[in-house]
Amino acid sequence: MNKLSQLPSVDRLLAEPRVVELAARFGRAVATRSVRAELDVARAAAKAGGAVPDSAVLAAAVAARIELEMRPKLRRVLNLTGTVLHTNLGRTVLPEEAVEALVMAARSPCALEYDVETGGRGDRDDVVNELVCELTGAEAATIVNNNAAAVFLLLNTLAQRKEVIVSRGELIEIGGAFRIPDIMKRAGAKLIEVGTTNRTHARDFAEALRPRSAMLMKVHTSNYVVQGFTHAVPEAELADIARGHGIPLVVDLGSGTLANLEQWGLPHEPTPREAFAAGADLVSFSGDKLLGGPQAGILAGRKELIAKIKKNPLKRALRVGKLTLAALEAVLQLYRAPERLAERLTTIRVLTRPEADIRVQAERLLPILQAALAAWSVTVTSEPVTSQIGSGSLPVDRLPSAGLVIRPQGKRTGILHTLEERLRRLPVPVIGRIADNALRLDLRCLGLDGEAEFAGQLGQIGLPR
Ligand SMILES: *Cc1c(COP(=O)(O)O)cnc(C)c1O
Repeated sequence: MNKLSQLPSVDRLLAEPRVVELAARFGRAVATRSVRAELDVARAAAKAGGAVPDSAVLAAAVAARIELEMRPKLRRVLNLTGTVLHTNLGRTVLPEEAVEALVMAARSPCALEYDVETGGRGDRDDVVNELVCELTGAEAATIVNNNAAAVFLLLNTLAQRKEVIVSRGELIEIGGAFRIPDIMKRAGAKLIEVGTTNRTHARDFAEALRPRSAMLMKVHTSNYVVQGFTHAVPEAELADIARGHGIPLVVDLGSGTLANLEQWGLPHEPTPREAFAAGADLVSFSGDKLLGGPQAGILAGRKELIAKIKKNPLKRALRVGKLTLAALEAVLQLYRAPERLAERLTTIRVLTRPEADIRVQAERLLPILQAALAAWSVTVTSEPVTSQIGSGSLPVDRLPSAGLVIRPQGKRTGILHTLEERLRRLPVPVIGRIADNALRLDLRCLGLDGEAEFAGQLGQIGLPR
């Protein structure tokens, strides 16, 4: 008897209760495609001499295929890399206040460019303009898609076909191919490099000034440090030179923060307020680095400079949407009560999480992970590890943390890569980090809800192959 004729028909499989249910959820086209694909697999297996699966087995395979296909690409993961602001994992985790605000803006019409008092047309920057000014000391502000866009827009507006003077020590590249010289070129500005990699003096700037100079620019070297025989010109001196020539001093702060991080034992990060106090005319910084908000670029400074930037047609191309503004407003509101920031703003809360607290969590999870890996030739320990802030912020500073460290028994280092992959393939992917022949799971970013999820799925790691 022909084994192939025992295979159920497409319609027969589409009538299986589990498939009916998934077809109702995801559509008949998706269900039909998956049924055909599973039938192809079964047919090929039968031709190769395998058994013919019955309808129930095929329906289960179809359901698994549909579920896999319809799983979102943008999935939740557990960040145990030890890098708090991990760009590839979405940088900041927003505080609940911001999540609520953006859900509101997503669900309902909202006063994005509408003045509810007068009924007239509004400006979307007005959603956060006053807050940014209050928190930074700026006269005006405008918001774009990210800080790269902010730098591009300010250069294109204020320095097109003109010259921008920057210290050689600050010609940075940050991840994702953002290089100051390239962005300058694309913005139509001519870069005038002054000084050397390690030392730049006030006279270097003064000597580079010409009628075509549009601005002095300072770029916060956020992702590296130059040590040893170094000299950079203080912002106050740069501001004097710029003012003497009638041009602005512009500072790309990179991360930027609106709080004094030292109050929580974190290293100092320059703030817009400090830059303005030193004489800067315009600053730019990210929304989703240390600020702890949504991805955005914030431009703040003198009113006439912001007004010019807002008139640039490219502003329209780089502007943010209502979800970003809703979340940004909520986060900025939290900065009005700095004394509660460490408890309410997720980024600061995670960065300031006490080592002892993380250690207790590591001890709690240790026996569970050890049990899950009993069949693996590895040792699992709870150990001190070091977290980093990430996103190029404060690159040399490390935060003492605790984690679960997995080491191979003997020389089987390949086992770590197998384990790393198994963890990554769990229902909620666990992202760790392999270094120095150990797989480290830094628990700093694992919240209490995350802990239950982490522990609950460890049984699915399976056996070594
Ligand atoms: C991170 C950074 C940027 C880019 O900011 P995004 O918000 O990631 O676009 C620009 N300049 C500096 C100095 C930075 O550190």
